[in-house]
Amino acid sequence: MDLHDAEKLVRKNLSKDIEQITEKFAEHDYDIFIVGGFIRDLILGRSKPGQEMDLATNARPEEIKKIFRRTIPTGIRHGTITLIWEEKTYEITTFRADGKYTDGRHPDTVRFSKTIEEDLSRRDFTINALAFDLRKQRLIDHHEGLKDLEAGIIRTIGNPDDRFQEDGLRLMRAIRFATVLNFRIEEKTRRSISKNLYMLSKVAMERIKDEFVKLMQAEKPSQGIEFMRKSEMLRKLIPELLTGFGLLQNKFHKYDVYYHLLYSCDAAPGDNLNVRLAALFHDVCKPATRLNKDEAKEATFYNHEILSSLVAKKILKRMKFSNEIINKVEKLIALHMFYYTDEWTDSAVRRFLRKAGLDLLDELFVLREADRIGNGTKEEKSKHLEELKKRIRKILDEENAFSLKHLKINGQDVMRIKGIPPSPLVGKILNAIMEKVLEDSSLNTKEKLEELVKEYKES
Ligand code: ATP
Ligand code: MG
Repeated sequence: MDLHDAEKLVRKNLSKDIEQITEKFAEHDYDIFIVGGFIRDLILGRSKPGQEMDLATNARPEEIKKIFRRTIPTGIRHGTITLIWEEKTYEITTFRADGKYTDGRHPDTVRFSKTIEEDLSRRDFTINALAFDLRKQRLIDHHEGLKDLEAGIIRTIGNPDDRFQEDGLRLMRAIRFATVLNFRIEEKTRRSISKNLYMLSKVAMERIKDEFVKLMQAEKPSQGIEFMRKSEMLRKLIPELLTGFGLLQNKFHKYDVYYHLLYSCDAAPGDNLNVRLAALFHDVCKPATRLNKDEAKEATFYNHEILSSLVAKKILKRMKFSNEIINKVEKLIALHMFYYTDEWTDSAVRRFLRKAGLDLLDELFVLREADRIGNGTKEEKSKHLEELKKRIRKILDEENAFSLKHLKINGQDVMRIKGIPPSPLVGKILNAIMEKVLEDSSLNTKEKLEELVKEYKES
């Protein structure tokens, strides 16, 4: 796509709202640009409906506040203000020209700039430095961003060593964008990542985690993990994954442990972070539990699921994931080794159900399916898993079909309490009580129900 076509594409995708916002800026004689991800994703044909839009302007935050009625001072110090317009929000950032970086993450001073050119040249990658001038309706591409978008290349703006030494998070961002967009990393940029890995330690783990999460939501996270391995970043961030590299399993597996984990992760659904993480770590301790090393085809890995769940917990803690995610992933991994056969009795199915718990059950099955696909040996869905699912569904249906016989009192009790003979009234009372219990199952005790029967009045 050339500049002209890209420009036309952006023009076609502007909303009425953005036109009105532009008019407001124009009335006060300020410039206003769309920058960053919105344009990149539009040109790549990857925009999501209602995608957020970052704007850049030469107006200062306090000036923006005067022009618009509804603003939120989200990051005044960095020159960012959030505009609310017709129930949608826009991040507006005043042109910046960052000062020196001495802490490897934040510029020492934030200096506002007069020009979009200066603002664009402080951004990280060429594909993120396209801007659309909303007043002139022109696309600005000073860093050959279009060319790199077309070729599928992640390249820093200017000298990569400088850019990575200013801000270590960019190392991880390069790999994240390459993974999510399915791009390659240009060679100088790539070499510079390996060279400047030490910069990662200057970045808050929470920020690294945020980028890692986006990488995990890509179509194929395996590509990102491979970028990390080849650049040696994996050795810094998640060395545990490397122990399975080149470690062959047994005749049931086509891949070594490392690639099995990566492909299982790819096979898990991208919108379920818990399962993706569980898939990535579900066998991480296989190398440590491997027995029968000489007879590679017969190797066994007793208890690897428990050890793996503990190591996954350690990794995720270190990476500052929330306790909620850590607990779920840990449980999923610990439970992933069940072997269903036709011989399972109903109580065995019930035991399994109790152990897994209803809230994890679906995800556990999804993990198992991903694990199977990650083996590379089997294609169609597992009959055993489908059969187990069916039996679980049946048991749950039976339990849900809560009926009069589950009530903790019966007709005899009702007749005794009310002092009435057998009659349709007894059934009517029982049904009324049943309604209450369906609403609140904690009422289903003998004492509480007897109380309810006493209180019952025919209406
Ligand atoms: P997405 O929102 O899809 O993750 P994005 O490109 O909008 O992608 P943001 O993190 O929202 O990414 O940042 C918006 C823009 O700000 C980027 O496109 C880039 O131009 C710039 N930017 C963000 N983080 C950095 C950074 N660490 N160094 C330099 N520029 C950055
Ligand atoms: Mg964004």
